[in-house]
Amino acid sequence: MFARSLVHGFSTAVSGRPLQVAIIGSGPAGFFTAHRVLKDIADVKIDMYESLPVPHGLVRFGVAPDHPEVKNVMNKFDEVATDDRFTFLGNVHVGGSELPLAELKPHYDAIVFSYGASEDRRLNIPGEDLKNVFSARAFVGWYNGLPLHRDLQPDLDNTDTAVVIGQGNVALDIARLLLSPIDQLRKTDLTAYALEALSKSRIKHVHVVGRRGPLQAAFTAKELREQMKLPGVQFHTDIPLLQNELTAGASYLSKTRPLKRLMSILEKEIASPAHQTGDKSWNLDFLRSPTKILPDSSNTTVQAIEYEINRLEGPPNACKAIGTGEFTRQDCGLVLRSIGYKSIALEGVPFDEALGRVPNQYGKVMDKDNEVPGMYTAGWLKRGPTGVIATTMTDAYETADTIAADFKEGKPFLGDVDGIGYKSGSQGLAEHFRQQSVKPISYIDWKLIEKMEFEAGLKTGKPREKFGRIEEMLAVLNTKNNSL
Ligand SMILES: Cc1cc2nc3c(=O)[nH]c(=O)nc-3n(C[C@H](O)[C@H](O)[C@H](O)COP(=O)(O)OP(=O)(O)OC[C@H]3O[C@@H](n4cnc5c(N)ncnc54)[C@H](O)[C@@H]3O)c2cc1C
Repeated sequence: MFARSLVHGFSTAVSGRPLQVAIIGSGPAGFFTAHRVLKDIADVKIDMYESLPVPHGLVRFGVAPDHPEVKNVMNKFDEVATDDRFTFLGNVHVGGSELPLAELKPHYDAIVFSYGASEDRRLNIPGEDLKNVFSARAFVGWYNGLPLHRDLQPDLDNTDTAVVIGQGNVALDIARLLLSPIDQLRKTDLTAYALEALSKSRIKHVHVVGRRGPLQAAFTAKELREQMKLPGVQFHTDIPLLQNELTAGASYLSKTRPLKRLMSILEKEIASPAHQTGDKSWNLDFLRSPTKILPDSSNTTVQAIEYEINRLEGPPNACKAIGTGEFTRQDCGLVLRSIGYKSIALEGVPFDEALGRVPNQYGKVMDKDNEVPGMYTAGWLKRGPTGVIATTMTDAYETADTIAADFKEGKPFLGDVDGIGYKSGSQGLAEHFRQQSVKPISYIDWKLIEKMEFEAGLKTGKPREKFGRIEEMLAVLNTKNNSL
């Protein structure tokens, strides 16, 4: 069926028309895959579908507002979007009635699933649904302007103590945000409503809690250093426990440099604290598994959290937290569980519920032991919800290379299975969009929305003022006078 032609230096199979690729999700995984596929395959057309009217996934809605340098990667994504072979279709949710996968599939040769992890893991303990108990995903989404969590309304002015469950970088992002001087945050792209709530916040003490010990903490040195430098914020931890663990794990530490660096920050801090005074504090609490979140007298709002105290069993790189049967309790008025994001299945795509990701080999979707022709995955959906943008880039490039290799080797794509010849990408969906009243947002539309965000930010000395509601984003496009 395929004719041969020269593509990026190698002879490959095409049918005298571009290879039509759909990418589902416009986070780093989607954009880095697009970047590499555009580089590797000359005669290709990529349509990138995104649920929201605005692109860039967690770069916009996850990365902390006071880490603007991390968000510079958006410039790279802008470059990708200028390629004539690339089309962005925002405001189109793939799956469900709006655009079922079965409707999308016949119009493409290959589909890359890179829709990230839009849910979170739960603790599954009593009290988890009390008022002022949130997932980190919701809280981060709230302060970063994710429309879904615009109305979260965390109550920050009726308590002085917050507990963050989990000891990864997201937990430290949250702790830092809760304890940062408000004037520092004013210069960031933190949403105006979050800034307002944080300016009235009474929270002075943040406990960052892990079920295992210091050697198992998952945050990185840069984030820990930032936390230690917060002005007027004292640091507390169980010093004897830390020292014991460092001594017991000395040989392991000598072999794991990043962890050694991390531990040396803690050691240095306890030997010579950056802040001896200050009315704020943060704690690293180890060996605690939450067992219950306890309500106040109204029985509606969190008042305390109960933990079982653990001991560690096994070597530092694979140790388990074992409950001791002893319990302790921490008074607090805000609980944020930061124990991981979770991907969800999309109908028609194999999904490993136990591992929470799409089974794949080098990005090629697998159904048990069989490759699924034309289906690929990248990013958090591919490898599970961990890893930074750089890690996501590496694995997105791997996926793109797999697509290019399949293309080069003439492996079957979607059409070969369905027996459908011509593929026209999103053009073939125009009638479906019309029937479903779906109005895709183009990248130019997005840049117009962004221009308004920049202009609004200028007025208050911020890099941008994000629109927190979908209607606000779309309203920009309905205002006739707006143009780039
Ligand atoms: C709170 C937080 C802070 C972080 N901070 C940093 C940091 O400082 N530095 C760093 O390097 N990394 C950071 N990361 C990690 C980084 O954000 C991830 O590595 C990266 O975003 C994963 O990319 P992804 O494309 O797989 O997923 P995502 O970025 O989540 O992108 C997925 C996209 O798919 C869209 N989507 C979902 N479902 C559908 C659907 N059905 N149809 C169409 N579109 C859909 C989503 O709206 C989203 O835009 C942070 C992560 C979090 C959670």
